[in-house]
Amino acid sequence: MKFEAIAVENIPLIHTGDDLPSIICKNLELQDRDIVIIASTIVAKAEGEIFRLEDITPGKTALEMAARNGKDARFIQAVLSRSMEVLVEKPFMLVTTLAGHTCVNAGVDESNIEDGFLLYPPENPDASASRLGNNLEKLSKKKLSVIVTDTNGRAFKIGQTGAAIGIYKIKPVKRWIGEKDLFGKVLEVTEEAVADELAGAANLLMGEGAGGTPVVVIRGFDYYCEEETYIKEMYRPEELDIIKKGLRCLQNRVE
Ligand code: GDP
Ligand code: MN
Ligand code: MN
Repeated sequence: MKFEAIAVENIPLIHTGDDLPSIICKNLELQDRDIVIIASTIVAKAEGEIFRLEDITPGKTALEMAARNGKDARFIQAVLSRSMEVLVEKPFMLVTTLAGHTCVNAGVDESNIEDGFLLYPPENPDASASRLGNNLEKLSKKKLSVIVTDTNGRAFKIGQTGAAIGIYKIKPVKRWIGEKDLFGKVLEVTEEAVADELAGAANLLMGEGAGGTPVVVIRGFDYYCEEETYIKEMYRPEELDIIKKGLRCLQNRVE
């Protein structure tokens, strides 16, 4: 068993309105069942999610949080504008985004963009993945899947990894429940975060710096392609999320 991870070469600096599918197809001949993995940074750039820090006017909550935590109120405002809930305020802002993804700073980023600018994550990453996937399929005339990724930290462990934030035609979680182990025991709980694992593999070739490789194609991996898939299939239902419950309890105890 094996699969390939191929970084697409010659991708330019991306600007608002750029046509990512044609740029990708120009630089790599896609094949059926390729999984095209695209860093959210360039999706956001193409979608024009670029804001000047000095143009952001912080509201009351952002000003209060900034005063409490000694941070730039405009940056906090940017994070709040994309957040449904703030789970941790200090020493970093851990939030659940409007799209339901829980991460630091709502994915608002100051890296790989000119000084003084902020990059907001794509507003609806599944919609972005679908639009990109549809256009990639039209241009290449191949059956494809797409994962839009970001770099995320994790609880308990040092080191960030690639994470899926939007998907197109790929089942994000593989259920092993009901399958047998080597000794014939039936697996009862195991579910595998396939989309995150692929995002992690792709992120090895993307890196976090000046590599200039925001698109990686996974080829030859035997995954489950499904017409209708949503990233929220990966998000633990509220009532089962004991970590979030715990964080809310902690916050209520902070002055
Ligand atoms: P994120 O993980 O989506 O936040 O993206 P990163 O900022 O970590 O960048 C991932 C990869 O994309 C790195 O190799 C960057 O150098 C590259 N990258 C970011 N923006 C651009 C761009 O506009 N053009 C190109 N060619 N590469 C970019
Ligand atoms: Mn990012
Ligand atoms: Mn990254």
